[in-house]
Amino acid sequence: MTPQYPRSDERRRMVEQQIEARGITDPRVLAAMRDVPRHLFIPSPCDQDAYADTPLPIGNNQTISQPYIVALMTGLLHPKATDTVLEIGAGSGYQAAILSALVRKVITIERIKEVAARAKANLEAVHADNVTIVLGDGTLGYPPAAPYNGIIITAATPEIPGPLKTQIAEGGRLVAPVGDRILQELVVLERHGDRFTEERHGGVRFVPLIGEHGWEEN
Ligand code: SAM
Repeated sequence: MTPQYPRSDERRRMVEQQIEARGITDPRVLAAMRDVPRHLFIPSPCDQDAYADTPLPIGNNQTISQPYIVALMTGLLHPKATDTVLEIGAGSGYQAAILSALVRKVITIERIKEVAARAKANLEAVHADNVTIVLGDGTLGYPPAAPYNGIIITAATPEIPGPLKTQIAEGGRLVAPVGDRILQELVVLERHGDRFTEERHGGVRFVPLIGEHGWEEN
């Protein structure tokens, strides 16, 4: 990916004031947040506010997460250059683009056809060539490319979908907002054989994960 996209001063300020100021120090995550042009993932006119400290609408009643939450969840995955990561909820494609700068391969699943098509175009525009978009119900995971060193769910789930737990590699991590349809807590699972350790990382607010192992449509 070419790091020289317009609005780099706004990205530098975003990283300094919203992300480093809240305690995120991983230099690889900070560099990816500085490089990836968030404004290219947000439809007009909200793209003007792309570097503000807030989630924004991306159409079809869906949102792109606040930059700090993207950086926080990315860091919690402990991404390594050799990793394969699965994302559930492609949305705009922005989180996948951040991951694509940090790991070997990213698969991202989106259930809404038009949203998936826009994410694909956005990812192509920034040459995120190691990302594959899959249309479907991400609560089932994506067995053909499993196991994954990291799984990130970017929609609110009542519990961690069982099929996703089985697709985590040994020593791999899963990050997800777990709770009700309004408020959730960030949960991190780490797999050790048949055992999973669990950490909690504070309150968040995501749109619901809709699917067989998530919420019903309405
Ligand atoms: N990660 C996204 C980004 O960087 O823009 C933001 C994700 S948005 C908060 C949540 C997305 O999850 C929506 O696009 C929604 O359609 C999608 N979604 C909800 N349930 C899903 C499911 N079962 N499988 C795949 N995608 C799902």
